[in-house]
Amino acid sequence: MPQVTIYTTSTCPHCLSAKNFLRQEGIAFTEKDVSRDPGAQREMAAMGARGVPTFKIDETVIVGFDRDRIKALAGGLVVECPRCRTRLRLPAGKGTLKVTCNSCRHTFKVKT
Ligand SMILES: [Zn+2]
Repeated sequence: MPQVTIYTTSTCPHCLSAKNFLRQEGIAFTEKDVSRDPGAQREMAAMGARGVPTFKIDETVIVGFDRDRIKALAGGLVVECPRCRTRLRLPAGKGTLKVTCNSCRHTFKVKT
């Protein structure tokens, strides 16, 4: 799973909706409150992000609550193994990936 960090302030209603959204989607995340954490403030400034919520998903920075992009990057794709039908979760937007099925060890290619 990708590394997801969300930068928030305690008074921002969009941050609250964003966190609820991540929980609903089953996406694990780390929260950094920039109104209380000067280190988090510096990190956000270094990424060139102004305003919350800001998301860092692996190396991608998303400013604002852009559900579709966040879901695509953080939630990834769910594909089915063509041999045993096991559902596998993959990162999105990484080109063609060679995937090995967790349960039957079948190897196949998926375009992400
Ligand atoms: Zn399989």
